[in-house]
Amino acid sequence: MTTKLTALVSTAAQIRRRIDGIITRGSAIRILVDCAEPRRRQRADTIEVVSAVETADTGQLNATVRSARDPGTRYAVVISGPVRGRIRSARCSCRDSKKGHVCKHAIAVALRFIDRKREEYVLLRDRLTELEAGGVQ
Ligand SMILES: [Zn+2]
Repeated sequence: MTTKLTALVSTAAQIRRRIDGIITRGSAIRILVDCAEPRRRQRADTIEVVSAVETADTGQLNATVRSARDPGTRYAVVISGPVRGRIRSARCSCRDSKKGHVCKHAIAVALRFIDRKREEYVLLRDRLTELEAGGVQ
């Protein structure tokens, strides 16, 4: 992870842009989680996220999660946005989402995203500190 990050992001300016992107997307996704109905938020902790892929240019998240009730069933979650600081949509192939709710699966994917971005943020921040200490712009 560290090697990949430093290979992709080499200058302080690039790192600052990446950090800004993490803060913008992270804030929007955090709002999605914070606004979720409390019972769904609690149930999200029991959901296994099988895979999650972020599209670099749009920030769209495509994920697969396992059903809590039936481990053989999987659902597809798509979280789009953010646009102007807000998530555009958080959809899932489960019944709860089809009723118009932000389901526990979408919340589980959002929470996993926040965890990953927190790690990435710390790595980038440390790399930026190193670069600035070395006087590299
Ligand atoms: Zn769902």
